[in-house]
Amino acid sequence: MAWDGRKGEPTMLNLPKRIYIKEVGPRDGLQIEKTFVPTATKIEMIDRLSQCGFADIQSAAFVHPKAVPNMADAEKVLAGITRQPGVEYSALVPNLRGFQRAAAAGVKRVELTLSATDSHNINNMNMTTEQSIKMIEQCLNSGLDVDLIVGLAVTFGCPFEGVPTFSRLKFVLDQLSAMGIKAVGLGDTSGVATPLQVYNTTSRLLDAYPDINFFFHPHNTHGNAMANVFAAMQAGITHFDSSVAGLGGCPYAPGASGNIATEDLVDTMNEMDIETGIDIDRLLDTARFVREALGHSDSATLRAGKISDLSVEERSLIQRSLTLCRVSWSI
Ligand code: ZN
Repeated sequence: MAWDGRKGEPTMLNLPKRIYIKEVGPRDGLQIEKTFVPTATKIEMIDRLSQCGFADIQSAAFVHPKAVPNMADAEKVLAGITRQPGVEYSALVPNLRGFQRAAAAGVKRVELTLSATDSHNINNMNMTTEQSIKMIEQCLNSGLDVDLIVGLAVTFGCPFEGVPTFSRLKFVLDQLSAMGIKAVGLGDTSGVATPLQVYNTTSRLLDAYPDINFFFHPHNTHGNAMANVFAAMQAGITHFDSSVAGLGGCPYAPGASGNIATEDLVDTMNEMDIETGIDIDRLLDTARFVREALGHSDSATLRAGKISDLSVEERSLIQRSLTLCRVSWSI
């Protein structure tokens, strides 16, 4: 077989054979939109994403409508979508009230978010991190038949307190582990993480908590999201969050780009034969729909096409210029 630099045996990198992507665009992406996105648009977006092969689409947040106006129609969105078998339509909540609302709306997997630092937790949820941890206990004791996972915001850096110490992360995770929480998202909420930091932090956490399935939630504020994904893979992480069309942003970094774009992540994995289970062409159609509906979303793949498209395009351009040359020689 001819050698191919893109698909060769990974000798330098500890790459997985498969990764798992949770699409968070309908929640993380839309919650920051300044104007209200019509419920029908949200429903169409999720229905289109349902055709792409995701096992989990985070479809809404059950939060106070005054705090996040774009999520005010969470119940209507969950009631309006066409559910596909094999797809979990999960939701994010900040507290017990949101947890109860999500359960009443038929959500079977709920992500409760809390922050690694008190300042961010107070700013975001109006309570301390410890109060949020108590809230998780209340959710677990509520008797509701819901799978509870946890998203740990600002794991890699907080806009108010800087980088949390490892002992601070341990302080939170020890308690989550003791409660039997099985999945925790490591959120680079402000998009300030660097690859070395992601590798070092996630390696240590994977070692310290073998019973927790950690997933990585990168934001691309500083353009490091893809590099950080690779650092996380190096450490052994195989579950990632991303947003179609690179939706989202960071409330503390005006103009910042959002989550890593799902199509950028999938396209890059495809080129390296790392399985994602996602149909890239359907995903790109959905990304175009989202860009059209919102009028501003963007990703490298939306702009430049798939990596394989570009190679084909280059080849055809070379072919065309060669043909032109031949024509001019013959005159
Ligand atoms: Zn986020």
